[in-house]
Amino acid sequence: VTMRVAVVGAGVSGLTALKCCLDEGLAATCFERSQDIGGLWRYAENIEDGRPSLYASVVSNTSKEMSAFSDFPYPEDFPVFVPHARLLEYLRRYAERFALRQHIQLGVSEEGNGGRDGAARGAAGSLGHDSFLQTTVLSVRKRPDFATTGQWDVVTEAGGTRTSHVFDAVMVCSGNFWDPSLPLHAFPGIEKFQGKYFHSRQYKHPDVFQGKRVLVVGMGNSGVDIAVEASRVAAKVTICTGRGAWVISRVFDHGYPWDMVFNTRFMSLIRNSLPGPLARGLVSYRVNQWFKHENYGLQLEKRYFSEPVLNDDLPSYIITGKITIKPGVKEFKENSVVFYSCPEEEPIDIVVFCTGYNVSFPFLEEADVKVENKHASLYKYVFPTHLQRPTLAVLGLIKPLGAIMPVTEMQARWVTRVFKGRRLMPVSPHPIFCNSLRFGLLFDEVLKTDCLVYSDELASFIGAKPSVLALLFRDPKLAFTIFFGPCTPYQFRLQGPGHWDGARQAILTQWDRTLKPTRTRVTSGSSSVWPSLLSVFGFLLLVVAVVFGF
Ligand code: FAD
Repeated sequence: VTMRVAVVGAGVSGLTALKCCLDEGLAATCFERSQDIGGLWRYAENIEDGRPSLYASVVSNTSKEMSAFSDFPYPEDFPVFVPHARLLEYLRRYAERFALRQHIQLGVSEEGNGGRDGAARGAAGSLGHDSFLQTTVLSVRKRPDFATTGQWDVVTEAGGTRTSHVFDAVMVCSGNFWDPSLPLHAFPGIEKFQGKYFHSRQYKHPDVFQGKRVLVVGMGNSGVDIAVEASRVAAKVTICTGRGAWVISRVFDHGYPWDMVFNTRFMSLIRNSLPGPLARGLVSYRVNQWFKHENYGLQLEKRYFSEPVLNDDLPSYIITGKITIKPGVKEFKENSVVFYSCPEEEPIDIVVFCTGYNVSFPFLEEADVKVENKHASLYKYVFPTHLQRPTLAVLGLIKPLGAIMPVTEMQARWVTRVFKGRRLMPVSPHPIFCNSLRFGLLFDEVLKTDCLVYSDELASFIGAKPSVLALLFRDPKLAFTIFFGPCTPYQFRLQGPGHWDGARQAILTQWDRTLKPTRTRVTSGSSSVWPSLLSVFGFLLLVVAVVFGF
């Protein structure tokens, strides 16, 4: 009997989850509470309840080659870093290419006939993408016989009508950027502040800052983006941060995309082989090469590790006085703010709290996925650790130092194999799992991880991890590119289940697609991407790395 799988959400994670289910021959139905696919990347002017909300200017901070699904490269004419509308277009093409739409229940149209264009209901009771109303998953509960069947009762609502379904497994792909975290209690005096304040989720366009004195609280990617935009129209912009942050530019060494330089197997080997303090020292040295963080008030507090902030403008906006960096807020007054270790008050009209998001799953029982202090108890960030059957998986609940798309796709490939019972356990389980239930007990402390190491691990569970050593003798050019070049997702389609014939070619042409949109004026003396000298040196390094690293 074909296993029936419910996928909650049709964003990046939901789409790839659906595709992986279909690849494995599972009968999947995807439920999406909003009117279309794309999740976070479908920008809307209005803020919708329960859905992420972007600001109009968002551009991806991970490059297109690193943010692709592993068997579907971006078109070569797409920019290297992708504005939200183009990213949505990519997701739409993905859905089209793998015929996903007919498995997605967006809801019932107002006419009840399948949408404005009257699209017919598909096999899964799905509708055309013009449907207006949404299908929200209201609850996912274990069935009474869960211990033997692993089945779930799923209740959905569309257009005021509730429907109960029974599924053999559930993939939770509901995202973690929709429930804003606004810890006002941590800001003494905020109740008497006369100015305006809001969470970054509310922000759409910079005109709200015209002529104002703006304070941005928090130094994540959104905070810095908003500050930079505000400073073009505001009277003054201040960012306050208790921790500081590493700031790096999308445009990295020699103008190459940061993640294509940073996320290579070679770099990962170095990062993960060095003792912690040395590795941190190396990172600190590298990020301070662009500008010395200390001189810009950005130096990271020693006790913290922070994922870097991607912004191309911040240092130049600081050095030209458009943005000032201050320590954390000590107190709000009626029309001003006092910062720690700064005696004078700073007059402020608008505060934007870029204080992140809570992780929550309102449709799940707390006993099934327990979230505490923004952390969830999930084996490999995916499987709840205490269920008798591994038939519930959470995807995309991870903050890799790199693009999330290929990581969540790898999770989906692993999960669908687990659902089918083909790979129930990692090849060599951690001792902690041996005496426990099928997946054991593990509390993953932080939702941050080195995406390459993590993806490799999941890939090894399903036999899709590329072997550089084996390739070195069979296909040295490919081995070289895989080891020293960017770890693009196609590497995970070279072998094993889901093997893709186009993977080798996609890897060897990754720089062509990267350079195509910018090399728009090619002169006769233009240099090649890989100067031959570098190749020779690289090959020698590869040999050394293979000898000592594997
Ligand atoms: P989402 O995109 O949030 O999709 C979840 C979907 O589930 C939504 O469509 C929602 O409507 C639906 N849903 C939720 N609850 C229910 C329910 N009960 N019933 C039915 N449907 C439901 N990542 C990168 O890799 N690169 C980047 O450059 C990058 N830039 C970012 C910039 C910003 C400003 C932010 C906030 C995040 C960025 N991210 C980036 C991370 C981003 O979260 C991921 O790229 C990706 O969008 C996550 O996809 P998802 O499918 O897990 O979640």
